[in-house]
Amino acid sequence: MPVTAYIGIGANLGDARANVLDAVERLRKLPGATLEAVSSLYRTAPIDSSGDDYINAVARLSTGLPAQALLEALFDIEQAHGRERPYFNAPRTLDLDLLLYGDERIATPTLTVPHPRMHQRAFVLMPLLELAPQLALPGLGSAARFAPAVADQGIIRL
Ligand code: ADP
Ligand code: MG
Repeated sequence: MPVTAYIGIGANLGDARANVLDAVERLRKLPGATLEAVSSLYRTAPIDSSGDDYINAVARLSTGLPAQALLEALFDIEQAHGRERPYFNAPRTLDLDLLLYGDERIATPTLTVPHPRMHQRAFVLMPLLELAPQLALPGLGSAARFAPAVADQGIIRL
């Protein structure tokens, strides 16, 4: 049975908008997955990070890939953009996060789902709610109820 997965996409180096749009095209072509929906692009000031503003979006996939295989496919797309990790939370050309994988809760050394901080970040929550206003986060309940708490984070829908 295919699973619905949500992917968070972010970039703040180089042509961030082009990098996000290219990541969307690579997700569209990903073997074993169907791209079902993509949010608008959003512009946000960096949180816990440095550099230029981020461009963010969220994509919804339907996939038969196991969660770990999907994560590795996301790493491959990041690598295709030459992402380096010189230090924790460094600016990055492209960051892809597995936000949700069906209603599963996953905790392995390499993968935590739901993504631990997703409900505290406007740049994840706003595009996610655009795609799925009624969504429930496993273990956390309604995604929408976290929106007021992130309302002070500057985010612009492009
Ligand atoms: P950020 O938390 O800002 O996305 P990184 O992308 O540098 O930071 O973190 C990547 C690391 O996070 C990887 O080593 C990966 O194994 C781990 N990780 C754990 N859970 C997830 C997830 N749900 N999605 C993406 N990476 C995850
Ligand atoms: Mg990441």
